[in-house]
Amino acid sequence: MMRMAIIGAGIYGCHLALSLRAKGFSIDLYDMADDIFSGASTHNSYRIHKGYHYPRSGVTREMCKIDEARFIAHYPNLVSYASHNSKIFCVANDDKTLIDYKTMKTIMKGTGLEIEELTFSQLTELGFANVEGGFRVHEAILLVDKAKAWFKRALNESNVRLKLNRRVNDLKVLDDELIQVDNTPYDFVINCTYNQAFQYISGKHQHYFDLCFSLLVATKQLKTERTYESFGIFDGTYPSLEPYGYADIPLQYRKYRDHQLFQIFHVQYTSYQQFNDIDEARKALHKGLPLKQLREVTDNIIEDIAKFYPHFLDEFEVIDHILALKTKVRDLSDTRPLLVFCDKSRHNRFIHVFSSKLTSIFTAEERVLSLLEGGIKNTQYCVA
Ligand SMILES: Cc1cc2nc3c(=O)[nH]c(=O)nc-3n(C[C@H](O)[C@H](O)[C@H](O)COP(=O)(O)OP(=O)(O)OC[C@H]3O[C@@H](n4cnc5c(N)ncnc54)[C@H](O)[C@@H]3O)c2cc1C
Repeated sequence: MMRMAIIGAGIYGCHLALSLRAKGFSIDLYDMADDIFSGASTHNSYRIHKGYHYPRSGVTREMCKIDEARFIAHYPNLVSYASHNSKIFCVANDDKTLIDYKTMKTIMKGTGLEIEELTFSQLTELGFANVEGGFRVHEAILLVDKAKAWFKRALNESNVRLKLNRRVNDLKVLDDELIQVDNTPYDFVINCTYNQAFQYISGKHQHYFDLCFSLLVATKQLKTERTYESFGIFDGTYPSLEPYGYADIPLQYRKYRDHQLFQIFHVQYTSYQQFNDIDEARKALHKGLPLKQLREVTDNIIEDIAKFYPHFLDEFEVIDHILALKTKVRDLSDTRPLLVFCDKSRHNRFIHVFSSKLTSIFTAEERVLSLLEGGIKNTQYCVA
């Protein structure tokens, strides 16, 4: 039986471990943390994107449509369905927006994405101000607590050996066919660390690490009294209100269990600090924000969201803030790439998998399989 080490037990590492185990590989799944789903796969905005969020990248919109359908068909039990999750997309009525409402609408319709147009008075009634226009869409949301529990059980039942608290820093090349990780020889190694270890560097895609800041807010009214919808202001440095993707509210927020929880992201303030070095980024993540900066960024976000949703503070209460690390790619085309390729500079059986989205796991799986089936002879660099 071929032995494979997968490094990184986020959604990519866990999904690939299960699918490759089903193909007959013997799998060791390593993670430096003490649990699976300890990185971006848990700390994100939980959207199973259909493509609405990428008005400026046709490639990403098309990828989203395909990936979304496959994700929901394969993991229907890990999501809250689109029909339960509406979002209002508004275009700002100022000179900062990168596209106007008419263009935004035309792009969405051109991609075949369903939108429910809202009149100006409907938008006003919903509480919006300073917007040129808006529409309602429906998108599924990942329920991350369910996903983590499901993958844990499935990995265990499939006899994937989970090796937690193991930070993998070195590979030893034994010969052309074997690589050693953690004193164990493997036929193949897959790097699913979100490009945070064995970092791949190229002129075309420059990765860096973004310390992301978001606010966790709870509705003041009870769930039973009113249902709130999430919303996003487009297109540029604006805020958005995103659902908190948990089926069961985490223990520390239990007192809000009868309320709705959302996260606020803001294109300008969420991207709090950028790093080229992952250790520096992790240090900043663990250190957190000094109180003064925390207050400042919170005030800035609230002030800006209130421009577009003036009753924000009457209806929502800030209950916490969240920091997460996002691996980003500097790419002028605004595309969110999936990179799957063999990195021969390390070993001709060392495969990198990196994606900017939760849902490209099936395309990633296909690319990995095609590399494995080709004996990784054909190691051209693929970008989907
Ligand atoms: C704030 C934010 C919002 C986002 N919103 C969305 C969204 O709404 N929709 C969407 O589709 N995508 C979103 N994303 C992107 C999405 O979360 C990621 O693309 C996806 O989670 C990447 O999964 P992964 O398994 O590659 O990485 P991760 O989940 O980060 O897993 C990588 C794992 O590697 C481990 N690791 C790292 N280095 C080592 C090492 N040396 N040795 C051993 N283990 C190691 C880490 O501990 C981690 O568990 C968001 C990301 C962020 C940060």
